[in-house]
Amino acid sequence: MKKIFMGVLIVILFAVYFLAMKYKWDTTDNVIAIVISFVLFLLVYKGCVLKEEDKLIKMGEFFLSLGLFTWFLSETIWAVADLFFSINPVQITWLTNVYSFTNLFILFFFIVSSYMDLKKWNWIQVLIDTFAITVCVMILVWVIFFDRDMRNAILTSADWISQLSIIIDFLTFIWIAVWFFSVQKHKIKLYIRFIASGCVMFLINDLIFFHQYLYTGYKPNSLLDANYLICFAVIAIGASLKTYKETDHKDLEEGIHGIMAGYNGFFLILAPIILILWKGFLVEYLLALVSVIMIYFLISYIAQKSIYRDRLLVNEMRLNKELEQKVEERTKELNRLIDQDAITGLFSRRYFLKKIKEYFTQLKENETIVLFYIDLNKYKMMKTVFGNYIGEKTLIMLGKKLEQFCDGENSILASYGEDVMVLIIRGGYTYKKALELGNRMIQECSTIYQIEKNHIQVSINIGISIYPLDAQNEGELIKHGDIAMFQSRNMGYNKVLAYEEHMSKRFFRKSKIELMLKKADYEKEFYLCYQPQVICDSGELYGFEANLRWITPEGEKIGPDEFIPIAEETGCIVELGYWAMKKAVEQLANWDTICERSPQIAINVSAKQVNENQFTKRLKEILDLYHMEPGRIEIEITESIQLEENREMRAKIIGAKKLGLSISIDDFGTGYSSLYYLKYIAANRIKLAKELIDHIVTDQYSYSIVKAVVEIADTRGIRVLAEGVETKEQLDCLKQIGCHEIQGFYFGKPLSSDEAIQMWIQNYKKAE
Ligand code: C2E
Ligand code: CA
Repeated sequence: MKKIFMGVLIVILFAVYFLAMKYKWDTTDNVIAIVISFVLFLLVYKGCVLKEEDKLIKMGEFFLSLGLFTWFLSETIWAVADLFFSINPVQITWLTNVYSFTNLFILFFFIVSSYMDLKKWNWIQVLIDTFAITVCVMILVWVIFFDRDMRNAILTSADWISQLSIIIDFLTFIWIAVWFFSVQKHKIKLYIRFIASGCVMFLINDLIFFHQYLYTGYKPNSLLDANYLICFAVIAIGASLKTYKETDHKDLEEGIHGIMAGYNGFFLILAPIILILWKGFLVEYLLALVSVIMIYFLISYIAQKSIYRDRLLVNEMRLNKELEQKVEERTKELNRLIDQDAITGLFSRRYFLKKIKEYFTQLKENETIVLFYIDLNKYKMMKTVFGNYIGEKTLIMLGKKLEQFCDGENSILASYGEDVMVLIIRGGYTYKKALELGNRMIQECSTIYQIEKNHIQVSINIGISIYPLDAQNEGELIKHGDIAMFQSRNMGYNKVLAYEEHMSKRFFRKSKIELMLKKADYEKEFYLCYQPQVICDSGELYGFEANLRWITPEGEKIGPDEFIPIAEETGCIVELGYWAMKKAVEQLANWDTICERSPQIAINVSAKQVNENQFTKRLKEILDLYHMEPGRIEIEITESIQLEENREMRAKIIGAKKLGLSISIDDFGTGYSSLYYLKYIAANRIKLAKELIDHIVTDQYSYSIVKAVVEIADTRGIRVLAEGVETKEQLDCLKQIGCHEIQGFYFGKPLSSDEAIQMWIQNYKKAE
């Protein structure tokens, strides 16, 4: 609305202005000219300067509005001189000069406005453009403005301000031409193009004015004056178009005076056309213009080629840079992926090892690094029972719970192995504080995790090691955390333990045994010894328990208490167990060749062996190999495993029993056993653990347990053997209770096979 009103107002003002001019109402004419120029100044100021935020552009447009304001000022002075002082303003040279400031400000406007583009120009092309434009303009000036008369030129020099104004006009014209030549058309905004058109009109008008002023005589309030105002009106229209949004052109950046921007040079052809239209066919000047234009195109062509090459080079460099950036981004992304554990989303082992090194180098005096080595127990079994997905979900949940114990920048929590997480915290941790924190971790993490429909009982064990107290470097810190965690397992699940030096020795001993077991030649290094088993009441020897012995190639004797748990852990026990079983049956078959009635043999069998698929089949194979009567073999299974809970194991034990083997439950009374459990077990015999027998004489509690076990076993037809009997008192006690069989040092230590058979023969003879 506002714009329409302004438009109508200007049209009315112009109409009045032209009327006044036609009917020579000089006063009205003067006043209206002042009003129009002021309104146009206001439009430019409001449209451009006030709406601009860029400081540089704002400054350029301020010059433009200043140009219009100067014009308004000059018009006012002119009117005042004419109306109030009745002075003919044309006579006052300085007044004409005030008008010239408008020209100067317009030039400033173009210089400042083109500045941003100017920085990107190719200077060779600009020089060529400037040269060609200047020469063409000069030829036109000479022919049209000075009419090829030197005297006209000399006349101009008398009024130096006018001369300067004319020079400014030409400079402005050349500047505009070079700017528009050097930039592709879309680069220059529409409103600027409008303003530039208004300015070019202004310049032409001004030159005509100076021509009249200098040579033919200028008459005020003529069409020429009106033209000035029309030029300003075009500029004002341009200013009001500033807010008009143009469609973006993708090639804007490319449009900077670069490849083939020189095609704008075709505008130079306008020069000879103007010349012909104005002055007819002046052959020598036409020739001069055409030559200049041709030279321009030629040099321009060569210049463009080199610009093109430069461009290619710049482009290539830009592409290279882009490529480098992309590669860098990719590398970062890749590193991020490598630094993250794929399952838990925690930091990866790689990242942890990198970071722990940094912690070591940055550690301040009096600071410690505490490492928590956190192991999720039974992870493999969890995966077997519930599947990989639930196993992994459990790990993720554990990671989340552990995150609460992190201490921002001072800590790193990472996945270190499949079921191992490590947390390091930098600061002032002591053993006490670290153990407290470790116990809190266990409280928080060792609970039942609900994953989908499953309830997973999670238990963890934690080892703690502290730098510099326990380790000298990061490798040792981790290793000692691992060792401490490992030792904590001996205390059971959900335990936390801080590293102590002796643990290392145990750990290395264990690693050594582990390695030796893997490499061992069973035939050369292992043998069996036999401990007598006796009927409690009569003292009659009825059989032997076969126990493994190991003498390493170095001659070191390693007891089964030490190597059996390691063999269990590594899985070696399966093959070693079968080897022992085979040896025992072979021995029995040998004894059968020596004596008529040879003893029964009890063989220790690991739960891992029972768990193995081929268990019953392999048992049968061994029996068949030596044509052994199954009833003479007993297998002792340690009840440390929850047999009643494991259906498969129970089925296998029953399978062995069906083969005709005798089954005995070893170490009864130490682990998971309960009297209740007795009802469900498919055993022929239970072996009461030595721990129960040790205090049977003095401790009423042990005595009553043994008594209860014997009573219940009796009702179920299960025989009871007491292990570790060392004294006559113990024996008497057991007799009193009604225990069926006895084994222990009181009757005999484990013997070699020869000693055993000797003992058997003597006993046999005695009985006879
Ligand atoms: P176990 O089956 O409980 O064997 C009894 C252990 O107690 C034997 O130790 C035996 O020497 C010892 N012992 C027997 N009577 C007495 C006594 O009156 N006093 C004392 N202090 N000790 C007594 P050994 O031979 O060192 O065997 C240790 C463990 O190694 C066995 O415990 C058994 O679990 C395991 N083991 C031995 N041989 C085999 C084998 O061939 N296969 C498997 N799987 N395990 C075996
Ligand atoms: Ca045993």
